[in-house]
Amino acid sequence: MSEPVVIGVDVGATKILVGAVTRDGKILASRRSLIDGRSKTTTVQSIEDAITEFMNAWNRPRPLAMGIGLVGQIDPPAGLWLEAMNLPIKQPVPLGQQLSDRFGIPIALDNDVHAAALAEMRWGMGTESADFIYLNVGTGISAGLVLDGRLVRGTQNYAGELGHMVVQPHGPLCPCGRRGCVEPIASGGGMLARVEEQLIHFPDSALHRQEKALTTQSIFSAADSGDTLAVRISSDAIQALSIALVNLVNLLNPEWIIYGGGTLSDGWLIERVRANVETQPLLMTRQSLKGILPSRLKPEQVGLLGAACLAWNLGELE
Ligand SMILES: [Zn+2]
Repeated sequence: MSEPVVIGVDVGATKILVGAVTRDGKILASRRSLIDGRSKTTTVQSIEDAITEFMNAWNRPRPLAMGIGLVGQIDPPAGLWLEAMNLPIKQPVPLGQQLSDRFGIPIALDNDVHAAALAEMRWGMGTESADFIYLNVGTGISAGLVLDGRLVRGTQNYAGELGHMVVQPHGPLCPCGRRGCVEPIASGGGMLARVEEQLIHFPDSALHRQEKALTTQSIFSAADSGDTLAVRISSDAIQALSIALVNLVNLLNPEWIIYGGGTLSDGWLIERVRANVETQPLLMTRQSLKGILPSRLKPEQVGLLGAACLAWNLGELE
């Protein structure tokens, strides 16, 4: 008899990854396609088409359920995609209902970071620990807070917006309207934007002479060579992310910090932040923090695993 599977659908700002995932987190098949993000209608149609194409090629047992991990804000119990900053979703879309009508199986929705944290609970650090922070630093910054073995959602599923913790009261203006949030200072997207903004004042900076598009890795390596602008941007990022994490460790007393996201993948930023997070929290909270580790889930799979995890959690939820 074939193993039971669920379908995971990882919806990013530009791409959709659909796959079949077993209960122990094995991806049996997957397929990637692009989103046509011209309008709400084309966006939702791209998601339906991507799933249809995968299902047509999938000739093995019928999946038990489907989980969708999405960028933006989600109301999981109502199955609503409320809004997305990088896609033209500005009014709630009843995506759960639409997809269960279309495909005839139960559907679960959540945002991509909550989905990744749930995958970390089921297949990663959660197999050993009930108290950890899942930190994601890429284009933006966000966190999944796992306390007493449960993902903290808050009253409307917004909990974990670490990116908007203020770490510099007079710092740069954040798109959210406040000054000095950690996201525009320490996220990959934020650092690149700050370099673009300030480059004009640093005519000798090595960051003018990039052959390819500027990346955070190029900022970090210029900082290692003593480039003034790169040192300034990366030092600000180290300080901002350190303050945010030290506050979080004091507030929540986690056992581990597990991290993912492109900006931390080369280790440069997190190694420098680690030194602060291991020494600056209160004695008792820092002694009970066992470590800061990369997620053991593969970065290119965590979105799909997170989405599939939403489906596996259906019916197992309290
Ligand atoms: Zn903000």
